[in-house]
Amino acid sequence: MRLKLLVVGLAAAAALGGCQKVTKEQGTKAFYKELHLYFNNLNNEAQFRKDEMRKADAKLGIVTPTGSIYSTFVFDENAFIVKNFKCKTCETKLIITSPGTEYLCPSCGHCPYVTHGAGFNRKESPCKICMGTDGKPKEPNPALIAKEAFEKEPGAQVLPMFEFVQGKDNANATMAATVRYVRRQWAYDNRGVVDISSRVIEKAAVDPNYLPIAATAEGQLGRPPGFHRPDATFVGQIEFEFRGGDLSLKNRYQEEAVRPWKDLKGNQ
Ligand SMILES: [Zn+2]
Ligand SMILES: [Zn+2]
Repeated sequence: MRLKLLVVGLAAAAALGGCQKVTKEQGTKAFYKELHLYFNNLNNEAQFRKDEMRKADAKLGIVTPTGSIYSTFVFDENAFIVKNFKCKTCETKLIITSPGTEYLCPSCGHCPYVTHGAGFNRKESPCKICMGTDGKPKEPNPALIAKEAFEKEPGAQVLPMFEFVQGKDNANATMAATVRYVRRQWAYDNRGVVDISSRVIEKAAVDPNYLPIAATAEGQLGRPPGFHRPDATFVGQIEFEFRGGDLSLKNRYQEEAVRPWKDLKGNQ
């Protein structure tokens, strides 16, 4: 992939010299790829730190020179962020991030995208409207969390994760874009255990050895406690410039904290 980027980059550089020109599709694609590389590098660094902390001789829970906190980044050029979305149940203003749309409002504990009828039990979360047949919070209907649905909401601001500010139609000049991303900060909890079923372990996207599993009724053996849990979420914005295959930052990060969502398991 790196080689291909280089080729496109060279083509873009050559174009500037008056040789072969790149199309706007080629230029935009190369821009996206460089952005993914940028955020992937940050995520790989986070994974490295996490792996280091998982080593048998690491003193987990004790603050190391680099700390026991790390951050992961989400960027998707096709996704968006919604600011000032009003929860339909309690009217709290929320920030919604489309790659990780949450199921329940952090303020009232109900699905923020549907209107609850009169007489619903506000204290019961998730209530029957928010709950699926399996007794867990129901995934919101895709139509309710589509870009168009948020655009119709009064006051809500729908912001793309990738927004051209310069060079959209001419990949041979300097391209620039406002990039929005989600940063999740993970903190080490040395007493944390996960209460999950064996089926979930089978399907887990992460190495099960990383899951400190509490002893369950299904006979799962408990593992020593301690794991990283999401501690805070931020929505960030930054401007990038892309010229001749090279990516550069145009300004400093601006970040805004997102209110933590409630534990999906209950309303404690
Ligand atoms: Zn709410
Ligand atoms: Zn509800």
